[in-house]
Amino acid sequence: MQEAVQRSDFDKFVAPTYSPAQLIPQRGQGSLVWDQNGRRYVDLAGGVAVTGLGHAHPELVATLREQSESLWHVGNVFTNEPVLALAKQLTESTFADRAFFANSGAEANEAALKLARKVAHDTGDAQRGKTEIVAFQQSFHGRTLFTVSVGGQSKYSEPFGPLPPGIKHLPFNDTQAALDGITEQTCAVIVELVQGESGVRPASAEFVDALRVRCSAVNALLIFDEVQTGVGRTGELFAYLGYGIEPDILTTAKALGNGFPIGAMLTSQALAEHLTAGSHGSTFGGNPLAAAVADKVLEIVRRPETLAGVKERHAICMQRLNEINARTSVFADIRGRGLLIGAELGQQFKGRSGKLVEHAYAAGVFTLMAGPDVLRLAPSLVIPLDVLNEGMDAMERAVVQFAATPE
Ligand SMILES: *Cc1c(COP(=O)(O)O)cnc(C)c1O
Repeated sequence: MQEAVQRSDFDKFVAPTYSPAQLIPQRGQGSLVWDQNGRRYVDLAGGVAVTGLGHAHPELVATLREQSESLWHVGNVFTNEPVLALAKQLTESTFADRAFFANSGAEANEAALKLARKVAHDTGDAQRGKTEIVAFQQSFHGRTLFTVSVGGQSKYSEPFGPLPPGIKHLPFNDTQAALDGITEQTCAVIVELVQGESGVRPASAEFVDALRVRCSAVNALLIFDEVQTGVGRTGELFAYLGYGIEPDILTTAKALGNGFPIGAMLTSQALAEHLTAGSHGSTFGGNPLAAAVADKVLEIVRRPETLAGVKERHAICMQRLNEINARTSVFADIRGRGLLIGAELGQQFKGRSGKLVEHAYAAGVFTLMAGPDVLRLAPSLVIPLDVLNEGMDAMERAVVQFAATPE
């Protein structure tokens, strides 16, 4: 038995890149979580949009147990059965012909951006100066040096300079700026269909359409970063299906493994051919444990009742948040797609989303910030309706408390 550990051990032994809540979750079942003291919470955060099927989902537990008793790791000098099944399912259910597997969202994006540069290199475009990556202000694409530089929040990248060159940031959802800013020098454009981390801002259909048209016109690759929006989160298997616009490359991670780390980059046969043997790779990418879990996750999410359930739960969340707002007038805007929902604080409450999340803990519910001004909900796609309503009841108590508490 391990010695008992407590929150203060974090401050002693863990690098302070995070400032975790005071409570320590110990056990989860579905959308309920219990902390070290046995207190029960409704989980509307999903481990930051990761546990799309909740905690300890019986089918996922069975899949992981079975795989863990058979084969953990062989490396990529071999392939393995779970990764082949997963690749087949991912390509059959999307625009893509080929998948590359990594362990996180950042790595999936790193692969996508490297692929774009490799294509430019192989075709001679790079030698003619066509190497520019276009991304959008406030976007988030991960924390490796390349992905954090591509991300549109300089506070995350600047302290790590010198940064990789050849990256340009344009305003999000500004169609004219995109048409002007994406040029013959652009080799790839990367965009989140809903900007997640920076405030749950959906891309407009007009904007995404313009990106597709402009990228095709100047022969730039269009990359959809669906690390947060993928795997059913928006009520479609991937958010691009709701726009009816296909990318050249799509990345996904978060909910793909429901907490077991895995990321994937999906692309066409023609583009994948540039990733010749030895040109890119990952020790753990596509390992049997992660792949087996992700294959089962995808199968469950693709069931029509799962995706239909997302739309039903979206409606409940929106209604409950609007009712809370009618009572408290805390929010200036309530928005989102599927079960990725943002509630932006009104002028008077700006900068205090972290405080609201703390009030929510006290009321018995896990929620998230999306920047200092936005409360974010990312519950399980299969959260039982009574549990969802219990969570929203707690949310209501939290918002009332928050509104009544001066800074
Ligand atoms: C979370 C996130 C990432 C980074 O994923 P990691 O698994 O933390 O590396 C990248 N892009 C988007 C849109 C994300 O939400």
